[in-house]
Amino acid sequence: MNDGIFKEEWLTEVQNAQKRAYTPYSNFNVGALLITEDDEYIYGANIENAAHPAAICAERTALVSAYANNKRKFKAIVVITDSPEPASPCGVCRQVMKELCHDDMPVYLTSKSGEVIKRTVDDLLPLGFSGKDME
Ligand SMILES: [Zn+2]
Repeated sequence: MNDGIFKEEWLTEVQNAQKRAYTPYSNFNVGALLITEDDEYIYGANIENAAHPAAICAERTALVSAYANNKRKFKAIVVITDSPEPASPCGVCRQVMKELCHDDMPVYLTSKSGEVIKRTVDDLLPLGFSGKDME
């Protein structure tokens, strides 16, 4: 990926995030690396629960952690899975990204294949519902 934004070191960092996943039920480990506007790294990993609906995705753990630590401006997010091809965020994560990130923020999707796909928040949730719809 050579778009003038993406940094190769983000691949190593998102792999480190993926290692933090807690997945005793699915063994499907997902990592997320959220890059703040000032290049700080916020790590996310999926955290499962015996009560399955209580599980939380990697993208949301990163975003929630960032907000809880008063980090609210982001440059990009990178998401990794062990899927053969890069997997894209679930619908809930897309909605949360719509709420907490700017629409044109890059979302980089990768997998063990090493392929990196770039989309934006708006690409992933076109015509997404937001606070603007409630004005
Ligand atoms: Zn999700």
